[in-house]
Formats: sequence, C-alpha cells, structure tokens
Amino acid sequence: MATLRDILDERVREADRSLYHVIDDRKRVRCYACGHRCPIPDGQPGVCKVRFNRGGKLYVPWGYVAGEQCDPIEKKPFFHAYPGSLAYSFGMLGCDLHCSYCQNWVTSQALRDPNAISPPLKADPEALVRDAVAQGARVLVSTYNEPLITSEWAVSIFRAAKNAGLIAGLVSNGNGTPQVLDYLRPWVDLYKVDLKSFDDHHYRQLGGRLQPILDTIRRLHAMGIWLEIVTLLIPGFNDSEDELRRLTEFVCGVSPDIPWHVTAFHQDYRMTSPEDTRPEDLLRAVAIGREAGLRHVYAGNLPGQVGNLEDTHCGQCGELLIQRYGYRIQGYRLTPDGNCPACQASIPGRWSRQFDGQITARPFLPPRKAQLVRILSRR
Ligand code: SF4
Repeated sequence: MATLRDILDERVREADRSLYHVIDDRKRVRCYACGHRCPIPDGQPGVCKVRFNRGGKLYVPWGYVAGEQCDPIEKKPFFHAYPGSLAYSFGMLGCDLHCSYCQNWVTSQALRDPNAISPPLKADPEALVRDAVAQGARVLVSTYNEPLITSEWAVSIFRAAKNAGLIAGLVSNGNGTPQVLDYLRPWVDLYKVDLKSFDDHHYRQLGGRLQPILDTIRRLHAMGIWLEIVTLLIPGFNDSEDELRRLTEFVCGVSPDIPWHVTAFHQDYRMTSPEDTRPEDLLRAVAIGREAGLRHVYAGNLPGQVGNLEDTHCGQCGELLIQRYGYRIQGYRLTPDGNCPACQASIPGRWSRQFDGQITARPFLPPRKAQLVRILSRR
C-alpha cells in the first residue's frame, strides 16, 4: 500500500529556480524557501520533509490541498484588511518548525508524526479559485501548514486569484529569506506573521531561530505588504514582562502602525502542562504593547472577556472605529478613504471604499470537502 510519503513524492514539480541552486558537483542543492536554507544531499529531503533533492534538482509540493475553508477574514486574524470579507483558506502538508502546541498539527506534522493523518486531495488552481469565488470570498489565504515551504504552489493559485480579482495573503511563521519574499512579492497583498517569542532559545525549542523571523518582519514592512503580527501568549513560555517588552519594542521600532494581536493559548497537541491563558494575562500583555508605543493592540480568542480590546480605535484621537465580538463586526465607522470620521486621521490598513456589511450576518455555510471533490471531478 502506498504511504503518504509515496503519494506526496508524486505530487511535485521542480522548485522555482530563484528558490534553490546546486551547491557542488555531488549534486547537493541549497533551498531558500525558508530561513533554514537547507543544504540537501541527493536523495534527501530538507528539514520540512516536503522539498527534496532528486538527482540535483529540488522538487516541491504541487497539485493538492490538505484542507480548505472559507471564514471571516478576522479569523486569520486580519483586523485592518477588508473587514467583514470572507477569506478562502487552503493548506498543504508539512512545516519547517515543530511547535509542541501547534493547533494545525494534523497537517503541519503529517510527515513527522504518525498520529497526524490528513490525506491530500488532488486540486488545481483554477478550480480552487472558482470555488472561492462561488463562496463569495474576496481574499485567498495560504495557511494551515507553513506556506513558505510550499511557495510555488501558493503562487500558482495566487496567479489565478489575481485574474479573478481576488486579494492574496499568507498566514506564516515568518521564517523567510530575501529570496522567497522577492519571489512572493508580486502576488501577496497581506501577510500575517506569527511571532512566537522574542527569545532565540525558545525558537530553537520549536525548531527555528529568532533572527530570520525578525528580518522577515522588517523586510515585509519595507516591501509595503500589509503586515499584522500575532503572538500566542503561553504562560511560562513567552509571557515574561521582559520578553514581551523587547518583542513589542521591536515591532514598534519597525512601525507603531503594525497591528499586534496577543491571543490566548489553550492546551493542544503535545503542550498540555501550561494553564490556558487567562483574560488578565492578555490585558497585561496589551498594556506592555501600548507602553512600547504600538497604536493597534488586540486581545484575541476570548470574545467578550477583554473589554474593548477586540475593537479598533483611532490611533490619534481614540474614536471607536470598528466594534467586534470575536469575528463578528458590530459597528463600522471608517470613512470610504479609510480615515477616522472624528479627526480625519488616516488609519493604517487596506480598506474597502464601502463596508459591505457583516459577512456572518448573511447565510454562511462552511464548505464541505465533498463540494470541492465535486468541483474538481467536473474537470
Ligand atoms: S523549505 Fe526550509 S526546511 Fe524545507 S528544504 Fe527549504 S530551507 Fe529546508
């Protein structure tokens, strides 16, 4: 019987030539799709286990999805990009990190953990985009597993998405390189980075390093891609005052206008010892972020328990601009130009000229796998 490895080894194509090169005459290659920059011997995969060297060529995942779903864009979370719109998310398998608290471990750790079973489903870019449009999505997002390691497939879908007038985004751990960000730049409008810690030792526990993530954040901002940052606050892991102060001062140093979402941890996968994050923990982190100078700080995952920290306020006069409960928008007051109606300050973000209403107030049916299968089988 074919293993997952066998199946995935067939769903590949050669990597984009800007994302790897041959190192030596022993056919070793170096991959630039993520900050690991793996040197990969012939016949071996990289750290992510989904990009591999065969005969001096780097092969990368292609032609499948391991999950797709249409959700409010606030769930990604993007709070300053097209509020109320639907974001169609898709993911593949594998990750370059191995976080013990991963909430998407069934797909991200599929090639490392035999308990992670998520069969790949054959797909093609045009069919995915048709499905997204049919469901009313305005934004297409590569997410669930780490999208940088499957950049070529994401770009093929984003090409089709652009032809259909959609906006494209990545939800990523931010472990990038200049090469992969240059490759993605023409296609990506929105980028969420999961800044997991501000301690290199913690990042090494997760299988990465801090510096490439910081470099990616700086580079994304300099490129003009809309950027929001999320930190999952884990008691005893990344929630010390000193670490949060350094983290938020760094983000503020890149730009005080970058939204920072501090979200609540709940026990998941292999991390079952810390207590779940409490509302007061989030409030403490928010206070540190504000003291650092960040203008838009949000507390997430605990709807209704964090006061007005789910809402967007004007960074200049404090006027309430977008009122939320969880993913639901309860009030929207930005002007068509994305300004505060009270003081006319320009609010950082990507705004529609017209707010089309709260998407979840309309009938919203999460897509079923069977529906996608039907769409694909019509081809
Ligand atoms: S994507 Fe990252 S982990 Fe995977 S082969 Fe390339 S450099 Fe290595």
